[in-house]
Amino acid sequence: MEAYKRLLLNNQAWVKDKLAVRPDFFERTSETQKPEFLWIGCSDSRVPAEDITGVEPGELFVHRNVANMVVHTDFNMLSVVQYAVEVLKVQHIIVCGHYGCGGIKTALSRQHLGLINKWLRHVKDIYRFHATELDAIPDDEARYERLIELNVFEQVHHLAELSFVQLAWKQERRPTLHGWIYDIHTGHLKQIAKIDPGQLPHEIYVYEFPDE
Ligand SMILES: [Zn+2]
Repeated sequence: MEAYKRLLLNNQAWVKDKLAVRPDFFERTSETQKPEFLWIGCSDSRVPAEDITGVEPGELFVHRNVANMVVHTDFNMLSVVQYAVEVLKVQHIIVCGHYGCGGIKTALSRQHLGLINKWLRHVKDIYRFHATELDAIPDDEARYERLIELNVFEQVHHLAELSFVQLAWKQERRPTLHGWIYDIHTGHLKQIAKIDPGQLPHEIYVYEFPDE
């Protein structure tokens, strides 16, 4: 059997399972979505957002890219966040990185892999911001894991720098921003950053809105 056919067969079995538990499952989920969470994760195949958090379809709005980045000129990510915040009105945004991240590993190297190097340049910047701390870590693996954590920390802070996040904070005291790491060795999630609504970033990033 060709590999892709397994996915289509799995789908048939999945539909059966869902209907066995709840006959109206698809009627219910096809009407609308009202997810409470936006998940920004890595594209890595080993970090399936719904599986590791035990949620059902309809609960997570998801954006994934290599190394779970929040890049201010990325209109794909920006559109997802803006829609999630202003239209879906999510209560929480979670940036989830993971140990063993190939994107971060590549950013630490001098490997030239083409276009992806442009994307991972943002990770090299984070290394440079934290070079004093990272250069002082003698063990390569420990330095790599620390960069994974610092990357999540910085991406969560990037969210706080977005005008539409600040506006939602001001008007509706949401969303809360979270930075998590998924440990691919144990399956556990670890919280490493949390920014509550109204916890503004450095004043250079703070916007004044017209009604002020
Ligand atoms: Zn990754």
